[in-house]
Amino acid sequence: MVAGEIRQKLIDIVGQDNVLESEIDRFGYSYDSSYVSLVSGNRPDVVVRPLTASEVSRVMAVAYEHAVPVTARGAASGRTGGSIPLSGGISLCLDRMTRIVELDEKNMMVTAEAGVRTIDLYNHCAAKGLFYPPDPASWKFSTIGGNVAENAGGMRAVKYGVTTNYVMGLEVVLADGTVLTLGGKAIKNVTGYDLKSLFTGSEGTLGIITRVTLRLITMPKKRGTLQVTFRSLDDGCATVHRMLQEGVVPAAAEIMDRVCLEAVARHKKTPLDAQVQASLVIEIDGDSDAELAAQAGRIEAVANQCNAVEVRLAGSQQESDEIWAVRRGLSSAVASLAPDRLGEDISVPRDAFPEVVRRIRAISEKYGLPIAVYGHAGDGNLHPSVLCNMGDPAEAERVHRAVDEIFAAALAVGGTLSGEHGIGITKRPYISRALGEAGVKALKAVKAALDPKGILNPGKIW
Ligand SMILES: Cc1cc2nc3c(=O)[nH]c(=O)nc-3n(C[C@H](O)[C@H](O)[C@H](O)COP(=O)(O)OP(=O)(O)OC[C@H]3O[C@@H](n4cnc5c(N)ncnc54)[C@H](O)[C@@H]3O)c2cc1C
Repeated sequence: MVAGEIRQKLIDIVGQDNVLESEIDRFGYSYDSSYVSLVSGNRPDVVVRPLTASEVSRVMAVAYEHAVPVTARGAASGRTGGSIPLSGGISLCLDRMTRIVELDEKNMMVTAEAGVRTIDLYNHCAAKGLFYPPDPASWKFSTIGGNVAENAGGMRAVKYGVTTNYVMGLEVVLADGTVLTLGGKAIKNVTGYDLKSLFTGSEGTLGIITRVTLRLITMPKKRGTLQVTFRSLDDGCATVHRMLQEGVVPAAAEIMDRVCLEAVARHKKTPLDAQVQASLVIEIDGDSDAELAAQAGRIEAVANQCNAVEVRLAGSQQESDEIWAVRRGLSSAVASLAPDRLGEDISVPRDAFPEVVRRIRAISEKYGLPIAVYGHAGDGNLHPSVLCNMGDPAEAERVHRAVDEIFAAALAVGGTLSGEHGIGITKRPYISRALGEAGVKALKAVKAALDPKGILNPGKIW
């Protein structure tokens, strides 16, 4: 429990209504979208909902003075337990900071507070013909602050990159309440260390992001969607490689294996062709119908060379939306196949995608656990989902060993533990394996410099 004196200081800063302490509120802020099982220690002692950076600064100053842990929280859509307050203390929820401060059309940049939902930011810019490309599948609920804190990716990363490629400036509140302004609208900037990149992907362990300036690009005038089915996942991967080698860079190239397709078929109550083992959903974009038709033609030719079963070009926006709705809803459809699902987020060199999937198949057979595989084939980031019942202790043990081997498989082919979901709690046992002792030591040195009392999101990353 936070002491009465601290509690009163927090109320003085954000007002009584924005300091939540009831049992039900503390429970509500104790979990995120990972499958980390809850223990009572995960509860925050108090939830604080500031409205401005100045309030965040004052809250942090109080927390620093009294050495109270602070866990930042956006929409809690994180997959690795990042916003779970492992050590109690304050759950600092940025959900009231929802102002889009400025859309600078001349410089093609947008500045927004941390709690703005990703889709709201996208739509605000799109209304002026400007495009913010990073589109995590969670964009209808994730916050832009959470996206920066996790360096979120999305479907369009293959062509347009991830969040960090768009961050121009940040306002960050440090552990002791100091407000730091980093970067800005100058396109070239090598003044000192690139701290905005350090804070991007720092998972709430180095500071609280209160404001973000993002660069934008012009919105492509036309978009098209293709759905291609294959007899093997290898054929799907080969299609992506050849497409890229031939200079056709799709905006997105998402792959799903048979287990995923079965989940979707079950969900939509539609039959599934027995010969289909994998499917690719491809988004293309450009400035004219002719450009799109040329791209679609080249992709179809490549897919046919790679033994595609069927190539379908969406004939209308509605058809395209339906195809993408399946991909965006895939995570939930897969989750409905079993009592529990452990979704991972490994990232491998693109040419190792088929090999790592073969290894995952072998792991699935070895442990007798179904593993659904889908992901961003265009950039080698895949999400193997182990379908299981964690309530059965023997099965839970097999799941842990299977997950361990999935990470080992990713590292063995030159990959990494996380492409976009971060380390949080769920992957911290593996971080030394990925970075080595020297790598972890360097991270800890940065952490100690910026958070000497260790109050920012303690217990995460290592
Ligand atoms: C269905 C589903 C689909 C998803 N698809 C994708 C995807 O395609 N790509 C992808 O990258 N991710 C995806 N995710 C994961 C998740 O949505 C992202 O990590 C997202 O960026 C988290 O945003 P959030 O606002 O929910 O952050 P939270 O979950 O609340 O927090 C995530 C981490 O960031 C920290 N944090 C949050 N806000 C701040 C802040 N203002 N300052 C400092 N630290 C902060 C928290 O402490 C925590 O460590 C998906 C999740 C779900 C549930």
